[in-house]
Amino acid sequence: MHFDAVIVGGAIMGSAAAWFLREEGFAGSIAVIERDATFAQACTTLSMASIRQQFSIPENIRLSLFTLSLFRDLKARFGAEADIGFREKGYLILAGPDGRDILAANHATQIAEGGDIALLDPAQLQDRFSWLSADGVSAGAYGFSGEGWFDAHAFLDLFRKANKTRA
Ligand SMILES: Cc1cc2nc3c(=O)[nH]c(=O)nc-3n(C[C@H](O)[C@H](O)[C@H](O)COP(=O)(O)OP(=O)(O)OC[C@H]3O[C@@H](n4cnc5c(N)ncnc54)[C@H](O)[C@@H]3O)c2cc1C
Repeated sequence: MHFDAVIVGGAIMGSAAAWFLREEGFAGSIAVIERDATFAQACTTLSMASIRQQFSIPENIRLSLFTLSLFRDLKARFGAEADIGFREKGYLILAGPDGRDILAANHATQIAEGGDIALLDPAQLQDRFSWLSADGVSAGAYGFSGEGWFDAHAFLDLFRKANKTRA
């Protein structure tokens, strides 16, 4: 057998790579080789399946925003039925007494990259999250949008189905 592109591993990285190859105009044949189609042991399906922009380096934030744009564009890209159950509930990252400067520096990077993240002081945290004890907390960063969790099986399935119809 001959294929122009062979991708070993058909979970999210392999299946998305095959999909993007086509999306970017690759016209050759593509084979995705997967040893376990149940994905029972794959990181993709065992992961927390969450997305955030609260990282410390621009590259990670850009990767996340790229994926977020795909989430927002899901129906246009994969059809009207496409749904990965994205629940847009922000991450809340807290800093202890010595962590405020690091959290603030990370926050500045996230904002500069377009993240919708707020830096909150203990009083604002207490106000917004009544269940939270702010004792020993110097600041918190919260994602107002673009962060949350989704159904990893459904996301993977979108790529796999699309790849089969485009094969
Ligand atoms: C506990 C945990 C929580 C995580 N939480 C998150 C999160 O919340 N958000 C996030 O973005 N990321 C998270 N991650 C990271 C994320 O899950 C991985 O970055 C991502 O799933 C990697 O995808 P992958 O396709 O490279 O690997 P995998 O999902 O592990 O897939 C690899 C595939 O390759 C196949 N394979 C391997 N060798 C061969 C072979 N020789 N022949 C054929 N097939 C083969 C395997 O069967 C498997 O299906 C988490 C990871 C872990 C472990």
